[in-house]
Amino acid sequence: MQEVFRGLEPERVFWWFDRIAQIPHGSGREQGLSDSIYEYFRKLGFSVTQDQHWNLIIRKPATAGYEQAPAVILEAHLDMVCEKEADSGHDFDRDPIRVLRDGDRLYADGTTLGADNATGVAFALSILESETAVHPALEVVLTTGEEAGLTGVKRLDFSSLKGRVVMNLDCSDEGIVVAAPGPRWSGWSLQASLNAPAESSNSTDCGCPGFWADTAGCISAWAGATPT
Ligand SMILES: [Zn+2]
Repeated sequence: MQEVFRGLEPERVFWWFDRIAQIPHGSGREQGLSDSIYEYFRKLGFSVTQDQHWNLIIRKPATAGYEQAPAVILEAHLDMVCEKEADSGHDFDRDPIRVLRDGDRLYADGTTLGADNATGVAFALSILESETAVHPALEVVLTTGEEAGLTGVKRLDFSSLKGRVVMNLDCSDEGIVVAAPGPRWSGWSLQASLNAPAESSNSTDCGCPGFWADTAGCISAWAGATPT
């Protein structure tokens, strides 16, 4: 992991953020990142599928005690917006994002950082590979072309997905946004832990207290995919 990420927690989330930043992944250029994630989880023995649009579906069985809970889809988009300063020589087809740090603030050298949506992808993949998180069966869906009109998710074959609970992981100015399919935005607070079951009276009722808590006030929200 690059020195700029040292000491940041959750460590594994930033490990993934670093890895994602190393591989060009603007809209329409996601194949390298998609291939990299595909190979990583395939070698670990996960069930992974990649379609011709480079969308990925990665599955993980429920942990002990949660086999009867409904499967949950974690969805995030792989692509980032590619913008740079006028005098930047950055090539989004070839160059890794050069990440800089000021205290706890990460930013990029003359370009967009790609935190939208490296953050959501990093959280999803960290949960997948965690050996301590408790959860129901997971289906991590990583889509392409979100910033270019949802082109990946519109071509995704939903027929293989068993989950009917969708949590969309994306970013905004407030930080990471966890959303579910619905007609409008709403504001709600979230405290997340990858490692310990939540001790909260406001835990969601989806049978997945390992990494969701304090969702009080949730009304509805938006997501890029709605399984039918
Ligand atoms: Zn986004």
